[in-house]
Amino acid sequence: MKKLNMIYEGKAKQLYTCEREDALIIHYKDDATAFNGAKKAQIEHKGMLNNAISTIIFKEMARAGIPTHYLETLNDRDQLCKKVHIIPLEVIVRNVIAGGMSKRLNIPEGTPSPKPIYELCYKNDELGDPLINEDHALALGVVSESELITIKTLTLQINEVLKKLFDQVGILLVDFKIEFGKTPDGKIVLADEISPDTCRFWDKETMMKLDKDRFRRDLGKVEDAYQEILRRLELIKTV
Ligand code: 5GP
Repeated sequence: MKKLNMIYEGKAKQLYTCEREDALIIHYKDDATAFNGAKKAQIEHKGMLNNAISTIIFKEMARAGIPTHYLETLNDRDQLCKKVHIIPLEVIVRNVIAGGMSKRLNIPEGTPSPKPIYELCYKNDELGDPLINEDHALALGVVSESELITIKTLTLQINEVLKKLFDQVGILLVDFKIEFGKTPDGKIVLADEISPDTCRFWDKETMMKLDKDRFRRDLGKVEDAYQEILRRLELIKTV
């Protein structure tokens, strides 16, 4: 399957049309941005690593019965995915307090949450992806009430699948952001990517950060951290 026309370029990925009307090719770039594009860099091999990591995770989701946009990995940097309408919501789950929530509520980073915390942000760069609630999402007209129920149910299931997957390889799933899409027949499916760009992963023994916070906070060894996540996931693949 060949890439035809680029129809969208985001911060970390490009989207191309292809010979299939019902599918698009997602191309993973090495570009990294943080703080709504204010900080930019290239992380060597990030595109390849995130493509490989996201592939393993989306296959695991399919095994767990989670509907996704994923169809096939075409090569080192390209994935074939179902064409969907992306719902402009960033859906976040937090198992351990960190990052934005730690700052907003002055709770020390690393505090475990008594239950998974479900958050929605409105995906809108101009507004800086503001935190919203379900009523705001309805008022924005981006989603229906029944879709909100589906999104929350799927999100909490995805959290369980991810927690279990990473727990097996000694990694604590601190938090993550996911996005959902709608197929032409109205089905809600997990879309976008799941990778160290979109999750916080801490080594369970050392608490070392193995995710994009290494870039955001200038901690160094960013590529090594992404390599380590792939290496551990590959250990599971062979079991
Ligand atoms: P926080 O709200 O603490 O900054 O982020 C919570 C989680 O969602 C983190 O795992 C973070 O990586 C992810 N996340 C939140 N917003 C974005 C975003 O705009 N882009 C990406 N790649 N991840 C995000």
